[in-house]
Amino acid sequence: MHVRTLTGGLAAACLMSLALAGGQAAATPQAQNAPAAARVLIYDAGGSAEFRSAVDRGAAIWNESVDTVELRPAAAGQRANIRVLADNGWPRALPTTLGSGTVYIGRQAVDQGYDTVRISAHELGHILGLPDRKPGPCSSLMSGSSAGTACTNPYPNSAEKAEVEGNFDGALVGRTPAERAEVIVD
Ligand SMILES: [Zn+2]
Repeated sequence: MHVRTLTGGLAAACLMSLALAGGQAAATPQAQNAPAAARVLIYDAGGSAEFRSAVDRGAAIWNESVDTVELRPAAAGQRANIRVLADNGWPRALPTTLGSGTVYIGRQAVDQGYDTVRISAHELGHILGLPDRKPGPCSSLMSGSSAGTACTNPYPNSAEKAEVEGNFDGALVGRTPAERAEVIVD
């Protein structure tokens, strides 16, 4: 009696597994149909401490906003294009080539009340080739701190999206344009 019950349970589990496998198989061709043009940049937020989720959200916002580039979190031990660290200074980005560099999520601005997701998206914007646009309105991501602590908008505006789309749509990738500053503070 007991054995029969177990067998029935196992059979049900097997059916469920088959159903799950079928679902996964059906989803695979859709993934292959996704646009293949995006340049993938790996970011490592392992050193971003308490800002980890804000950094992930900032990266996700860029992924929602543009098609030519995709920010993907690093797997364990994976070499990253972008390193994101937390420190006690002012937030800043140190781009090396377009799409690569180091971002610091500085606690100085966070302590003053600036929004951590806006900071993260803004600094990643520098890595994606955008300059500061200060002073500027809250609707502009690259207006940064000039929009004030009440501004929590983490989204690039249409011009900022278009500029990033253009940066990764052509020959600029991997180059070091002379007009791009070595260090972009805030
Ligand atoms: Zn900035």
